[in-house]
Amino acid sequence: MIDRLGRNINYMRISVTELCNLRCRYCMPADGVCDKKSHAEMLTEDEMIAAIRAAASLGVRKLRITGGEPLVKKNIVSICKRAAEVEGIEEVCLTTNGIRLTELAKPLKAAGVNRLNLSLDTLSAEKYAYITRIGSIEQFWAGFDAAMDAGFDKLKINSVLIGGFNDDEIEELAKLTMKYPIDVRFIEMMPMYDSGDFKEASFIPYTKVLEKLPEAEAMPPDGGVAKLYRLPGALGNIGLISPINAHFCAECNRIRLTSDGKLKPCLHSGDEYSLKGLDYEEMRAMMESVIWNKPEWHGDLDAIHRSRAGRNMNEIGG
Ligand code: SAM
Ligand code: SF4
Repeated sequence: MIDRLGRNINYMRISVTELCNLRCRYCMPADGVCDKKSHAEMLTEDEMIAAIRAAASLGVRKLRITGGEPLVKKNIVSICKRAAEVEGIEEVCLTTNGIRLTELAKPLKAAGVNRLNLSLDTLSAEKYAYITRIGSIEQFWAGFDAAMDAGFDKLKINSVLIGGFNDDEIEELAKLTMKYPIDVRFIEMMPMYDSGDFKEASFIPYTKVLEKLPEAEAMPPDGGVAKLYRLPGALGNIGLISPINAHFCAECNRIRLTSDGKLKPCLHSGDEYSLKGLDYEEMRAMMESVIWNKPEWHGDLDAIHRSRAGRNMNEIGG
């Protein structure tokens, strides 16, 4: 569906849970979800599928399942399978920290998930344990291997750029594209409601990646939000995602649905519209009006002007 500013909204990101088996410092508090919602407040599987049907009837063609960590959701395979079967949905992608892929990569592939994005901010076991607070990088790599074995091609690795933490690893992370047929995408850290103790110097611009990779050549865009580059001889692309320094609001094609049923027309806006308890027709009408009125842009956003989302990333679905 085309919004009032002429943008074609054809992409919905659904967070299926705000819970996670990691505690990344820029994403969620050390103790996990502080204000855990009751089961009754969360969307049921049937409500999620009704929302996907409503979105598809309005022109959404691509879905991204995210969280929190989507693979800690008990019924994740069934949600993915039913989502992939909704008429009009052409692509189901999933973003995960990869930890549970050893068990779930094959079932997800069989359920119709087309593509996976895996999050990895560092190649160092110590730094991985630090940034995730409780994670083990061996589990990540086991999950990565499981995804490759299950036949997921076009895997993407997402790395959040964190000044003073992984800016010294940009070259090494980028070189993963020489070893594997995958894309590595660097994402500017967004100053969420409570993105840990990161100070201004931690928020580094995507241009830092280009400074570190002078040999990278620009590639034609593929319709996504990442600016694409490639190292000579590489098997995959480097993607640069800049929600802060080169925001893409004018081309934004997405809406978001949180696990407690809040439709968010913009990641960084406090505007939320509840779908919980609505039937299909009511959801569709609500979605139509929310899409039409999608905000023009996300407003000032930097280490000082924090996101007005009023939620941390795990509660929205990054
Ligand atoms: N748990 C899954 C994972 O980590 O891939 C999916 C949810 S996570 C919220 C989705 C993505 O958001 C991850 O790639 C994560 O690194 C990113 N993210 C979380 N907090 C962020 C922040 N403050 N700024 C930028 N990206 C963030
Ligand atoms: Fe969990 Fe993903 Fe947030 Fe890390 S980024 S705490 S893995 S939801």
